Amino acid sequence: MNPHWRKILVTLLPLFLLAGVVGLIGGRTVGIAILAVVLTVMVAHQIYNLSLFRTWLASPRMETIPEGSGIWQHVFSQLRRMKRAQAQTEADLKEALTRFQKAGAAAPEAVVFLDQDNHIQWCNPRAKDYFGLDPHRDRGQQVTYVLRQPQFVDYLASNDYTNPLTIRMPLGGNADATVSVQIVSYGDHEKLLLGRDITKWERLETTRRDFVANVSHELRTPLTVLGGFLETLTDMTEPDPDMTRRSLRLMTQQAVRMSRLVEDLLTLSRIESTVALPKEDPVDIEDLLDHLHQDALALSNGRHAIALHVETSDALTGSADELRSAFGNLVSNAIRYTPEGGRIDIRWASVDGRPVFSVTDTGIGVAPQHLDRLTERFYRVDRSRSRETGGTGLGLAITKHVLSRHHAKLDIASELGKGSTFSAVFEPEQRVPAHH
Ligand code: ADP
Repeated sequence: MNPHWRKILVTLLPLFLLAGVVGLIGGRTVGIAILAVVLTVMVAHQIYNLSLFRTWLASPRMETIPEGSGIWQHVFSQLRRMKRAQAQTEADLKEALTRFQKAGAAAPEAVVFLDQDNHIQWCNPRAKDYFGLDPHRDRGQQVTYVLRQPQFVDYLASNDYTNPLTIRMPLGGNADATVSVQIVSYGDHEKLLLGRDITKWERLETTRRDFVANVSHELRTPLTVLGGFLETLTDMTEPDPDMTRRSLRLMTQQAVRMSRLVEDLLTLSRIESTVALPKEDPVDIEDLLDHLHQDALALSNGRHAIALHVETSDALTGSADELRSAFGNLVSNAIRYTPEGGRIDIRWASVDGRPVFSVTDTGIGVAPQHLDRLTERFYRVDRSRSRETGGTGLGLAITKHVLSRHHAKLDIASELGKGSTFSAVFEPEQRVPAHH
């Protein structure tokens, strides 16, 4: 039997039985009267509770769900439970939405949701910076109406979004930024449009390409020279001892130049590939300075007056090997760019609590327009002078890199024709005070 019918039967049957029994004992009228009274009470109870329910439905709030009585008590408590679960779900959804919107707002990328007809459904605040979209004003707008670049319009129409689109446009303070635009299809022909600033990566990529081109170029010249001599020597029918000796000497020079370049490249790559300093020990600076001085005297070979001034007994923490190479480059530059008879002063001092290593020369100096670029790889003011003196164009790049790993900066003061001072200025934290 249908459970609802059974319920009716179970409720009403005892009542009718009771009325029947009473009727048998006290007569039919009494039986019917009892039945009428009980039925009336039951109907009244139902109407009362239904009315409570109806009143509540007019403004169905959790707190005002009535208590009810009898079977209704059960109904209302069930309702209360459902309401509570619903409120919880709502709160969860709201939280998820807030979280999503916060993430969207914080994302460094532009995020735009498009419907199947490319109308803007939602976009994050970043989309304003990138595409000039207004999250409120442009909702429902056709995206190509706001983003009109022909490249983008074609990309959107192509329906092939495997690769992102790269466009150049003004962004933030940069008039010529590179932006990667990618469309991702999802759901029912809906689209997600993402915009990302890749200017930095583009620049890195250009630097990398330039670097490879520069290295190849630097190696090609000596190789061409070597190749030329080898060809001449091979083609000689009658070996000319003088010519052979001269050729071999020049070939050796080129080989030395190539190995110096490779040496510098390896140094650069070594300091670039290790993030942390190899050793953060106190450096025996006195010993290091002495060695530098000796090397300088040997390199100058009596052509310059070279003096070492140790004005503080403070030492440094860091990597002795790297510092030797950084300081050594400054000293060797001073010698190489100072004509015979010039002066070179190597100084170790403490200025306002900062350890400073400096090299002052009375050499050819550098014109102001070149100063900012001297530490770029392969940047040279005078290419042939640098080559003649055995330069690779990487010395100052190495120095700058080492110094930045030691929290120091390179200061350059120079006057064309008068001379230069290259100073490595360290942070006070790198200083190891002398023991007295
Ligand atoms: P290089 O191997 O060419 O010397 P560096 O990176 O050491 O490469 O230096 C870059 C350029 O800076 C040099 O080519 C030179 O033009 C300039 N320079 C460096 N040191 C000095 C100096 N003491 N006096 C004049 N010019 C210098």
